[in-house]
Amino acid sequence: MLFASLLGLGSGVHAALPLEDPVNSRMCVIGGGISAAMESYYAHQDALKKGKKICVTVYEKGGSFIASPGEELSANTACNIVGSLTTDEILSIVPRGSELVEKLSILFSEPGGIRVDDVPGANDSEAALRFKQSVAFYASDPNHNDRTMSLLMLGKKSMGLWQEIYEEGDEELKAIFRASNFHPCHEPSKIDKKMLHDGYRIDLLYGIQDAEKRALKMKADYDSIGYRNCAILTPDEVEALDPFLADFCSDHSYRDPLLGRIWNRDCVALWRPGGCLDSGVFIPKFYDYLKKAMGQYIDGEGKTQDCFQYHFNKEATGVEFASDPKGLRVAGLHFADGTSQVENLTESIVQYVFCPGEAVGTLHSLGFNEPDYAAFAGPSLLLSIPLRDDQIDQYRNFSHCMEVHKEGITLAWQARLRDRSIFIGVAGTKSFYGDKRPKIDEEFAKNRHSVQINMINDVLPEFISLAQGVDTRGKILSEDELSSLVDAAIARRWVGRRAVAYDGYPTLGSLYRGDLKVANARCTTHLGSGGVSFSPGAVFMSRLADQEIQDPFVEKILKYSDSRRTVH
Ligand SMILES: Cc1cc2nc3c(=O)[nH]c(=O)nc-3n(C[C@H](O)[C@H](O)[C@H](O)COP(=O)(O)OP(=O)(O)OC[C@H]3O[C@@H](n4cnc5c(N)ncnc54)[C@H](O)[C@@H]3O)c2cc1C
Repeated sequence: MLFASLLGLGSGVHAALPLEDPVNSRMCVIGGGISAAMESYYAHQDALKKGKKICVTVYEKGGSFIASPGEELSANTACNIVGSLTTDEILSIVPRGSELVEKLSILFSEPGGIRVDDVPGANDSEAALRFKQSVAFYASDPNHNDRTMSLLMLGKKSMGLWQEIYEEGDEELKAIFRASNFHPCHEPSKIDKKMLHDGYRIDLLYGIQDAEKRALKMKADYDSIGYRNCAILTPDEVEALDPFLADFCSDHSYRDPLLGRIWNRDCVALWRPGGCLDSGVFIPKFYDYLKKAMGQYIDGEGKTQDCFQYHFNKEATGVEFASDPKGLRVAGLHFADGTSQVENLTESIVQYVFCPGEAVGTLHSLGFNEPDYAAFAGPSLLLSIPLRDDQIDQYRNFSHCMEVHKEGITLAWQARLRDRSIFIGVAGTKSFYGDKRPKIDEEFAKNRHSVQINMINDVLPEFISLAQGVDTRGKILSEDELSSLVDAAIARRWVGRRAVAYDGYPTLGSLYRGDLKVANARCTTHLGSGGVSFSPGAVFMSRLADQEIQDPFVEKILKYSDSRRTVH
């Protein structure tokens, strides 16, 4: 409640102010991903609470939310993956110090490797070299463990905020969450009876030496931040909870005369706190909702305008700075299409929030400080397998979300009956790309998509058999077989990148140009591998940078995420 009251949230009020009410403040958001969505939402909520009208304009460089077939590259990351919601999602991406050096010496397709060899500049561009050097320096930072613990706590806070946005939403917003397969991460409501979609989920680990040891380490992390119901599950328990995993259970277990059915040594299942959000469904609907919720105003020429506007194909390439008695400030933006939006200095000051995410180096190129950065590429594979009318009933209860771990690979995973088809989405695995952008025809994406389709076949062979029209149990699927699923519009391949600062911490709050604070600019970025999970918490903290808050946790997060930080 402390955090809700700090931001003046928790009202649950969603009605827009009347058309004729004047606009009290304006906000421009650069980058239109999930961080921008949360920035817009919280700005609106805060204004409503204060009885004020705010107008928000989002500028997005991409042309659409979801990549259309044949145009696999779309920048909007969260729209092209299936989001797993966990407290530790953000921690999985940056190896520390010597570990990074070691991993960079191993090709991405080998266990533990993250190096690509077919992308010019990925390993030796100026940005890549700077990043690697900073990671090496950072390895000896004594506060590393404290940073990690604070991120876990921020993750837990963010899980609560997702649930709060849902619970305090009106019926329309709740329906959007339900359509987006939202399952929050929280302590279960029924301790004595495990159920899917009650805050916890099944994670599968297989093909991993000492799988149980790995799972117990995960359990210890969740225990340490107050989750009390983590447990190793037996194959029988998994099958009872989720009968659609029966094939997987029988393929990876055996019957012990004394203990009954137990996992093979390289396999285990963990009952752990975790939820999911089909962010590709959620983001477009959520932006539509904001447009309605924020209402309209009458401009200086007497025309009616929407208070919330989202503009595609608007890449901000320059910032206009101005100095006035209050200090340095942003006075406008220049765009790649040759247009500009420069403020009339007599107007009230606009707040600018930069959420460029995957476009690492954007803060730097726009003239702000940015901690050393790099992108880690990641693929997603989304399957939509059409069902005949007579098959739909059979799969009506099919719905699970998990993470599936194999040596060197973790996939966020969602599968369910969606629009008369079986939808299976997986996203995950990484490689170091420096400041380069991954492409779908490079070795990394081709190889990893092949691994992903085979992991889906390992876990849910019934559905890959349906898609292929032949029994695929125990088979290894070839790249050609995946291509035929893409050609049949059953599979959609996508590759994108995660934005990461050298210490793996998000960059939040005030922006600076050299030593000067920019009075009306903030950022929420570098959310790495956890932006779907962490965006409410990150935005929450970022907004507090403008306020005089004396709370040790907030102060710590804002110190660690300061956009001026450097190891040198
Ligand atoms: C394969 C993969 C799997 C993932 N799985 C998960 C998961 O399971 N759970 C989880 O929590 N997170 C996951 N993530 C991470 C998550 O997707 C990101 O952290 C999140 O998308 C970051 O959100 P964002 O809005 O900050 O940045 P982005 O989603 O990168 O959005 C930034 C937007 O800004 C736009 N932009 C950039 N520069 C400009 C500019 N100059 N002008 C205008 N527009 C600009 C970009 O086009 C983009 O649309 C995954 C990421 C990948 C790649």
